[in-house]
Amino acid sequence: MTDSAKPPGRFEIFNTLGRAVQQFVPRTEGVVQLYACGPTVYDYATIGNFRTFILVDVLRRTLDALGYQVRHVMNITDVGHLASDADEGEDKMLAGARREGRTVWDIAQFYTDRFFADADALNILRPDVVAKATDHIDDMIALIRRLEAHGFTYVAGGNVFFDVARFSRYGELALLDRQQLQAGARISVDRSKRNPEDFGLWFTRSKFEDQAMIWDSPWGRGYPGWHIECSAMAMRYLAEQFDIHCGGIDLIPVHHTNEIAQAEAALGIEANDPQRWVNYWCHGEFLLVNGAKMSKSKGNWVTIGQLQEDGYDALDYRYFVLGAHYRAHQNFTMRALDAARAARAGLVSRVAALARAAGIDAPGAVADGGHAHPAANEALAHAAHDLAMPRVLARLWQLVKSDSDDPECTLRAVAAIDRVLGLKLLQSAASALADDTRSDPDVDALVRERDEARRRRDFARADAIRTQLAAQGIELRDAATGTVWQRAAALPERDR
Ligand code: AMP
Ligand code: ZN
Repeated sequence: MTDSAKPPGRFEIFNTLGRAVQQFVPRTEGVVQLYACGPTVYDYATIGNFRTFILVDVLRRTLDALGYQVRHVMNITDVGHLASDADEGEDKMLAGARREGRTVWDIAQFYTDRFFADADALNILRPDVVAKATDHIDDMIALIRRLEAHGFTYVAGGNVFFDVARFSRYGELALLDRQQLQAGARISVDRSKRNPEDFGLWFTRSKFEDQAMIWDSPWGRGYPGWHIECSAMAMRYLAEQFDIHCGGIDLIPVHHTNEIAQAEAALGIEANDPQRWVNYWCHGEFLLVNGAKMSKSKGNWVTIGQLQEDGYDALDYRYFVLGAHYRAHQNFTMRALDAARAARAGLVSRVAALARAAGIDAPGAVADGGHAHPAANEALAHAAHDLAMPRVLARLWQLVKSDSDDPECTLRAVAAIDRVLGLKLLQSAASALADDTRSDPDVDALVRERDEARRRRDFARADAIRTQLAAQGIELRDAATGTVWQRAAALPERDR
């Protein structure tokens, strides 16, 4: 654990607001308030979605390892996310319910549970607060009323809209040029809107008839827009102004742009005010398939469950994700996943070999050595520089390949580095070792028979047994107490 008396280490992050790697300065010393947009629970999360959630997890782990006290809030979108981010189409939840012949509430519960099962398998830490949109309708109504009081809203066609013309910094995050946008009409124009980028805060009149989730409001029975959800929940569970807001890059032009507009309008933050609603915006690049974004609408998506059915461990996918920088495109192929699986197995077997050399039977319990080891220090410095996880992995490999240190000391450094990577290396090594020594009466009998053959000087038989066992992946070693055997999978390649 980190020494709480020491100030947290230096952290730098690429801020979408400003498009530069910046030194991170929290609002309150030593504390980080972090909000991440969560899943829309109308279907399984894709491994593309999980690339972004792994980014958030690694960010949180790094801040934690640097000594910050992190408060992490994530929402569950279970109402209001329409088929298009710009208020078009029907609610995704409704489409999910219709597809499966179940209620929207059943669908939300089922896919929320699936999301967390996958997240747990990926060793993604649970946020401190998980907030469901449908539990926070009152907070959203209160925020819309605040906007109304400040004159930022209007009602048209029965729906309440945010008037972007009233907010001079509109589009700053996305570097949007409103005039250009209007000319190009990239956002389809709803005739009841004053400006094409205006967005719905509350809908009483749907574009579809059978919206199943509706609540009373000062503007009539209806449901909230997607963007107001996140701002209301973030402000409820964090301070009204906080440090970091995360999501995938697709959220920049509409969702996060609208979140900034409505939150800063409600808080009365002026255009020249250096105090922003959120100081750092962190966005992850897409996971691609054949050069295109992995998405449900393209039908090119894969789930963690499917990878598990094919015999992969979710941590193989986590290793794959950590192999690319979060701001770079990453192309998903089964070949690349196979390479990640092999690399992770190699790491685990080296960690198991270190434990064996240190005489530690249960490496899962090895305490993390903090920043005592130079390798751990260097790895953390890489993570602290805009989450350079490929470099953290490279430093870890260098560490486990070197023979120069005492194995127990190396193991403690591995534990410290894995606090940031979250690959469960020590626990996996512990299971590999347990597997290693799992007894097998058939193997024991063959080993005894070979010992007897050697005593009889029947070397042909002894060799035949060794070959037979090797074919089963069993290694034999002559020890003072007699012949011992272990499964070769737990040995690093160079030791085989
Ligand atoms: P959703 O469930 O659609 O609200 O998305 C959840 C998160 O996944 C958001 O932060 C998205 O930006 C992110 N996301 C969606 N598709 C991808 C992708 N192909 N690669 C990385 N992140 C994605
Ligand atoms: Zn959001």
